Amino acid sequence: MNHTPTGSTGAAIISPNNVLANAMLRAVDMVRPRLQATHPDRVAFCVGTQINGAPHLGTSLVQTAAFLLAKATKRTFNVDAVVRFGALDNAPYDIRLDPETHHAYQQTYYHALGREGVRELMGKYYRTLFDSLADATGVDYEVETYTTQQHDPVFRHEFLATLGRLEQIRWPLAPSHGQVHLRLPCPECGWAEKRAERTKLIRVGSGGADFTAVCTDHGPYEVAVTADSGAYLDLATLYRNLVKERMAMRDPVTMSVMIKGGDWAYGCQLVDEAFALLPGLVPPPRVFTPMVLTDTGAKLSKSLIRDGKVPPPPGTRDWMLDITTWPGDVDSFVDAMVWLVGRMLADPKHFYRSYTTQELDRIMTARPQSSTGVRAREMNLYRRYFDLVAAGRKTIEVRVQYPNLRNLAAGDHIRFVCGRDDVLTRVKRVARYTSFEEMLDAEGAANVNPDSPREQQMANIRRIYGPEKEALGVLAIEIELLQPATA
Ligand SMILES: [Zn+2]
Repeated sequence: MNHTPTGSTGAAIISPNNVLANAMLRAVDMVRPRLQATHPDRVAFCVGTQINGAPHLGTSLVQTAAFLLAKATKRTFNVDAVVRFGALDNAPYDIRLDPETHHAYQQTYYHALGREGVRELMGKYYRTLFDSLADATGVDYEVETYTTQQHDPVFRHEFLATLGRLEQIRWPLAPSHGQVHLRLPCPECGWAEKRAERTKLIRVGSGGADFTAVCTDHGPYEVAVTADSGAYLDLATLYRNLVKERMAMRDPVTMSVMIKGGDWAYGCQLVDEAFALLPGLVPPPRVFTPMVLTDTGAKLSKSLIRDGKVPPPPGTRDWMLDITTWPGDVDSFVDAMVWLVGRMLADPKHFYRSYTTQELDRIMTARPQSSTGVRAREMNLYRRYFDLVAAGRKTIEVRVQYPNLRNLAAGDHIRFVCGRDDVLTRVKRVARYTSFEEMLDAEGAANVNPDSPREQQMANIRRIYGPEKEALGVLAIEIELLQPATA
């Protein structure tokens, strides 16, 4: 007699209703209000990750959700969408205590490893993963390290603008004592006071601010922060998010959507309070992704398990704690994650909730194995082009060479998508050109679009791709139809 509880059979997810899910039909509807209000040219799904060793399932879940939400946004709202990956290379690499005061000092990954070291770490853990996610979803991504971001005059200006209200915002940013963790590393050794106990703001003016701080080895020092100075500005989590989100809200072209792990729902309350104390801006839309929980209801913590403080909870697999131990290649891991998060996103009730490791293990174990074995890239098409492809009349698709297309080759599969319709094709040939003119000369305008004269095609292409896009290089992708369109 099998006493499987209801809903535990197959890969089905059963979720109760909740306040948020009750208010919407699709998980992606979270971005609709702001899209309606601002009509941006582009939406950037921003996801930040600490660069400190092998990622775990929670990290992959947030990242996969960012790509899938971008894809859903393109389809649902017909607007360009990308993923913007913030690599937090200011994560602590090492911490030590001042022998006299016992204040904690920390060194960031950037200060310990340098720009090249951080780049290597990124390459090791994230590049292939993101390339694979970009292929699987047809969504492009950008990467920016925190170090690069804090160096940007716009970011530094935004930070300086908060200092006029520091007396007010320091309470929501540090509600227990009002001491914001503003870390200005020692110019000689790069170490900084973790909790900024002896870091003082001594002067703030229109163009900049002067601080003093104390280094264990090098004594007191002064740091001038201006929009253009090179002084490293390491802001603790809440403050960094406040500045980053305010900066994002000033962009008139790209609407930022913050994708954050579920535990951020608590933290953002404080960011919002600080936001409200500063003039003129409202916080960006945020999407909180499902948390991975242990059987006790706590967030799955890799370090607690590693340090032997808690046993691995039921259903925990090695790959959940370290995705590099996944039994298969990166593409197969990404396919599994895209499937899992796709199931969650299929219903707001499944997405705006948390999952235990045991439940995730059950769902993943029961997941159907890929029926076709075909891994197809997705590409969106306007209706007029989609219909030509689906009818087999358009055999050359034209793109500019975005990073995620650099490996495109004969034999690959492309699924063209328009609204709810899609059609599967196989790549017969990929030719690369330096300009659209050159491409049309070589490929023949009639193969690109049998219904449109060359001059008109040229005009249409130029409307879609500006000169800076053309400069990336032009791809002519010859395709053959594998399967008629699903209507
Ligand atoms: Zn020092």
